[in-house]
Amino acid sequence: MKKLALHWKILLGMLVGIIVGLLMSNLEGGREIIQDWVKPFGKIFINSLKLIAIPLILAALIKGVSDLKDISKLSKMGGRTIGIYITTTIIAVSIGLVLVNIVKPGNSITEVTRAEMVENYSGDTQKYKDSAKEQKESGPLKALEDIVPENIFSAATSNRNMLQIIFFAVFFGIGLILIPEEKSKTVKSFFDGFNEVILKMVDLIMLAAPYGVFALLAALVVESPSVDLFKALGWYALTVILGLICLVAVYIFIVLVFTKKKPLFFLNGISPAQLLAFSTSSSAATLPVTMERVTEHLGVEEEVASFVLPIGATINMDGTSLYQAVAAVFIAQAFGMDLSFSTQLGIIATATLASIGSAAVPGAGMVMLVGVLGYAGIPEAGLALIFAVDRPLDMCRTVVNVTGDATVSMVVGKSIGKLGEPHVKNWDDNYPKN
Ligand code: ASP
Repeated sequence: MKKLALHWKILLGMLVGIIVGLLMSNLEGGREIIQDWVKPFGKIFINSLKLIAIPLILAALIKGVSDLKDISKLSKMGGRTIGIYITTTIIAVSIGLVLVNIVKPGNSITEVTRAEMVENYSGDTQKYKDSAKEQKESGPLKALEDIVPENIFSAATSNRNMLQIIFFAVFFGIGLILIPEEKSKTVKSFFDGFNEVILKMVDLIMLAAPYGVFALLAALVVESPSVDLFKALGWYALTVILGLICLVAVYIFIVLVFTKKKPLFFLNGISPAQLLAFSTSSSAATLPVTMERVTEHLGVEEEVASFVLPIGATINMDGTSLYQAVAAVFIAQAFGMDLSFSTQLGIIATATLASIGSAAVPGAGMVMLVGVLGYAGIPEAGLALIFAVDRPLDMCRTVVNVTGDATVSMVVGKSIGKLGEPHVKNWDDNYPKN
């Protein structure tokens, strides 16, 4: 076990979790045992990752921005980051739309199944509609307004406020660049050290990752709905997964073309973060590990990774946008609606915005999907159709969200000469230590 690379250990933990979950689901009282005695360890694992998300963003971004030493470098990197993020999201939605129009998964849903599902899940659907309504009722500039917190301490009390923390950290970093060096020196070295401590904490948490994902997956399996529902939604789920695979292929291609790094190098480096994204369904919870993998194993310099990745975890959700496009058209097909070309173009715009607005937590993509449905005039009751398979698809789209962020950080790093060689600092023995 000691010699096994981290991603294999995590994969093993996942597999054993699924097997134990399946066995326990068929055992009388097994479900309760998992819920009472195994699930809490999964929760502790996710919590420990989330626990360091905000301190990590603060320390890494302040250090990253102040290391740039010059505001023009910051605006150059910021412009590129946002530009590439939007481009990859538009590519993602387009792939989703093309596939869903070719496969037409909605046509395989019969009238009876549709009525049954709408009936079964109407309660859950309402919950999502309510959260979406709250977001919709605010004015058009509300999202922008929300980026600026009125109190940094209260902003830091919720992981949902990541953009506010990012704003504060970048602002603070800019202040640090602008003051004389003899004054900024101490503050900078404080945040440098703080950042190192947090990264070490990530290493420590990752030692528990195989056990954490075991607990998460075992609990997920005993709590998942019946297999019959999955079957009815098979084509839909397959379309989303196929789209996500195509998107990962696009990333690999982008990395190869822009950074000349081989696909295996990229996948090997990022895989523990991908597996964790799959197990936790949260890009925010995965962020500390994504940062570590990208800097130590993919060679992106810290000042780039610490700027590009926290922003990506919050606004760049390519997997989510692809899923939203497929889900919207699938529901329309299931309700026998024909969407015009211009409506589908509009879906590209709304799904791009909706994915930017989605929080990096489980199920967030579904809340924002309500907005896409609303725009295209597709019945919101259709959410009930996709409910049963949402969690597994959430797991898959989160993997892609995280992979997309890593890809963009490499491209941005390369474009400003900040992509070097891997330099592994932790106990993972994927690469020779230096
Ligand atoms: N779970 C996704 C993430 O955290 C968001 C979503 O699509 O629901 O990246």
